[in-house]
Amino acid sequence: MSEVNSIIEIKNFINGEWISNGDLETVQLKNPSTGEVISNVPMSTPEISEKAVQAAADAYPAWRSTPLPKRMDYIFKICTVMQENLEELAQAIAIDQAKHISEARGEVGRVIEIVQMACSIPTLMQGETIQGIATNINGRVIKAPLGVFCGVAPFNFPALVFGWFIPIAIGTGNTFVYKPSTDSPLFMQKMMQLLSDIGLPNGVVNVVHGEREVVETWYENDDVAGVCLVGSTPTAKAIAQGCGRNGKKTMLLGGAKNFLVAMEDAPMDLLIREILMSGYGSAGQRCLAVSNIAVVDEIYDEFVERLITASKEITLGDARDPDIIMGPVISESAKERILNYIDIGLNQGATLALDGRNPDLPVANKDGYFIGPTIFTDVTPCMQIAKEEIFGPVLSILKVGCIDSALKMISDHDMGNGACIFTQNTFYTEKFINEADVGMVGVNVGVCAPHPYLPFGGIKNSLVGNNKVQGKDAVDFFTQNKVATVRTVDPMDNGSITAKNIDPSVRSCVAG
Ligand code: NAD
Repeated sequence: MSEVNSIIEIKNFINGEWISNGDLETVQLKNPSTGEVISNVPMSTPEISEKAVQAAADAYPAWRSTPLPKRMDYIFKICTVMQENLEELAQAIAIDQAKHISEARGEVGRVIEIVQMACSIPTLMQGETIQGIATNINGRVIKAPLGVFCGVAPFNFPALVFGWFIPIAIGTGNTFVYKPSTDSPLFMQKMMQLLSDIGLPNGVVNVVHGEREVVETWYENDDVAGVCLVGSTPTAKAIAQGCGRNGKKTMLLGGAKNFLVAMEDAPMDLLIREILMSGYGSAGQRCLAVSNIAVVDEIYDEFVERLITASKEITLGDARDPDIIMGPVISESAKERILNYIDIGLNQGATLALDGRNPDLPVANKDGYFIGPTIFTDVTPCMQIAKEEIFGPVLSILKVGCIDSALKMISDHDMGNGACIFTQNTFYTEKFINEADVGMVGVNVGVCAPHPYLPFGGIKNSLVGNNKVQGKDAVDFFTQNKVATVRTVDPMDNGSITAKNIDPSVRSCVAG
């Protein structure tokens, strides 16, 4: 496949301008499907990151005072330009993140839905009023923006995380500084050009590429109101510490290790199809990808045989080729990490029932970072492959006696992003929804990704703090509740109040 987009230069975008990389250090950006170098990513310094925050802080007063319909006009325009450029945006993701082109289109489509949800900010941002707190006194809650928010993206959802943060942050009146992953900056490069083309005022959204140095400088910066991250749990905890010390708001989604439970009455065809999509979609690099499959004894043998047979049909190749089923993992080092987990699984006594270490590949993709579908059976919950996030197309199958054993495994695990059950029994369904110790539950679905109107986020180590993305939760995060106490004064009465005739209800109103 030709590298039609390979010439793109990755640059920072600050205060409405593309900034030349000058003599900044860069790292190579490679296409994981081929291993070819396609660009260089600037490693911005803390000073550059500070300039971006300054630009966002300078833009904030005018942006927050921009009338809501005008702000919404920009959000509608973001929606329109994303629809018009969907294919180009999806191709960007299919190149540097090597997400299969159909999933990349799906990701951009999902972001458009989130932007549509952001168009309801004028309703979601409405405050509350209570009349008659005391004589002639009313109380009012105003949902106000906070200032500059900063956001950090993981490599695996370059578009989705833009959608989770930016439309809602700026729609509610804040300004933004965004750091994409150095492994998948192409989407934001294109998206930022689109934001500039629709005339978004300078400084409202700024993009700075680089690594942790870009982020760490935000902790002590008084202009930064809050920091959001989607990434691994150690990164989420590091940001929580930096922000916590300095009193900043945070929205920090961490890593995952998702269970799927197959009961004896699981609809088998659906179950297998959903596991293929969940376990091997994005080559297993999704925070809601199934990783541990707990199967009851009654269907264990049939399930294993059917899953192995179906997994062998997965074809591998360039992520932009619609005829293949699975693309590569993100990098050489990710491939090494996943191969290492396969060794660990073998050393700890699991059975490698399907070995994806040397998959068949098209000639053009021999230097890409591929691992085929891999299945371990005879896995126990204490094995490392069942405990740790592998983030690749590797499935661990655990045998369980009943739903309670499966639920115990889920609750014993330190991650709690999502978990799914396959069953037709309402008792199992309701019990699972009530008792599965995770933030998102699925019934007869392989990926329990909630709708953009609903909150998204896990619990336990999958979420640091308790702020979730999407929906009303996100609007709440990007706003602060300001309380106004308003006394109306009758001009005719003015001057008649003396110390002796203070209304007792007014005294109680000022308590505290
Ligand atoms: P990562 O934690 O390595 O990096 C995420 C981002 O944080 C990158 O932009 C990186 O440059 C930056 N970063 C890394 N270390 C940092 C530090 N010490 N301080 C500040 N910033 C730092 O994650 P990744 O490998 O890019 O993404 C995969 C991880 O993200 C997986 O753990 C996956 O489960 C998780 N993820 C979670 C969700 C969710 O919804 N919970 C969604 C997508 C991905």
